[in-house]
Amino acid sequence: MIIRIHRGTHQIGGCVTEYEFDGWHLFVDYGEELPASPNTGDLQVEGLTYGDISKSGLLITHYHGDHIGSITKLPKELPIYMGELGREIQMILSDHLKKVRPEHEKMLERLEHINTFKEREEFHFGPFQIKSVPVDHSAFDACAFRIEAGGVSVYHTGDFRLHGFKRKNFLNTLQQNVKDIDYVVCEATNISRPDATSKSEPELQRDFVKLFRENKGCVVYLSSTNIDRLFSLYKAAQDAGRRFYVDKYQKKIMDAVVKSESMWTHSPLYQYGKNKPEPLKYHRFDKDRFFVSDSFIDALDKYGYVLIARSSERFDDLLGKIRSEKVKVLSMWNGYVKEGSDAYNENLAKSLDEDFDYMHTSGHIDMSDLREFFRLLHPKGIIPIHTEKPEAFAKVFSDEWPIIVLNDGDYISPISSNKVDTCKAGIFCVDKPNVK
Ligand SMILES: [Zn+2]
Ligand SMILES: [Zn+2]
Repeated sequence: MIIRIHRGTHQIGGCVTEYEFDGWHLFVDYGEELPASPNTGDLQVEGLTYGDISKSGLLITHYHGDHIGSITKLPKELPIYMGELGREIQMILSDHLKKVRPEHEKMLERLEHINTFKEREEFHFGPFQIKSVPVDHSAFDACAFRIEAGGVSVYHTGDFRLHGFKRKNFLNTLQQNVKDIDYVVCEATNISRPDATSKSEPELQRDFVKLFRENKGCVVYLSSTNIDRLFSLYKAAQDAGRRFYVDKYQKKIMDAVVKSESMWTHSPLYQYGKNKPEPLKYHRFDKDRFFVSDSFIDALDKYGYVLIARSSERFDDLLGKIRSEKVKVLSMWNGYVKEGSDAYNENLAKSLDEDFDYMHTSGHIDMSDLREFFRLLHPKGIIPIHTEKPEAFAKVFSDEWPIIVLNDGDYISPISSNKVDTCKAGIFCVDKPNVK
């Protein structure tokens, strides 16, 4: 088997990986680069974007744009595989965005015709034996893949973390389902963001309960597809005895999760309690505005509220009409509101104003959890991707494992797992024969 990283060896967004065996090509993810990254544009790859694709397939780890965003540019005949619930959430998102971003119309068409799998499902593609492994990430139904062909097995992590609500469950799944791994192709986002995981998701939830108890009105800005955070806030509002308001689109996403038969949704976190989330009402004659009735304002005053907001005129207008004192919270990466940052979002910064609390934790694993994770898998080699600093990552982990630092387009070709037994801990580049 050949493992080739087409993109993502030195950037976080737009990772594309290829596993090749016996003339067959299995790709993982085909998304967009992040705005802050060096732009290589539409990545052209033989056997994926052009040429003979009769023995090619694509796996999608999750619905974040940097993993799925460019699939509309791929040939229609290319088979694509994605988790069932992740696909459903992406379809709700695309349906919501299609009016303002026409490429989402194409995404909807494409998603109609892809193959889906369930968590922990095993399937084949040509000579590849594939198992989907559910992981904890800020996208719901995200997964890793165990991929095996020609006697070599690889664990492709996708984006994941160990400090979310599903830590225990994920580690159990891993121990039961993932054995005898030769290589890990691993996301390494947080090597350059060491402070991003200062809190676990359950700790953050406790902070929210406290905030909601102490403040009658709270407005929280977060990504609507960060499902764990959305449900965590809903539960925190319940604990604090506050009403929980979302718009129609967010309610649709929450309903899809509650109704799904995903292995995770057996957890009470994803079930509605006594008071369901309340959808905000739209103005009958002006769909660009929410309807603010006297009874709505009375309910806010009586019970207190947690309102999930986005930066839009509709929400700005609504918040202008709720005169009582309120706390604003940013519960997503603060790079969006840092002036000068490549990801700066002027509208969000304006909606938040100067005075807001920042309550967030990363969707990506930190380095100490990553060490624990590698010790469970005992790989014979680790290839970092989805990172700006693979060399820094190699320095951290090369004391225990061989770290293979590649450049975009590089590959390694372990012929069978026996051949890589001799690898010793250290940093290896692609031209070193003992990782070939
Ligand atoms: Zn992600
Ligand atoms: Zn990502």
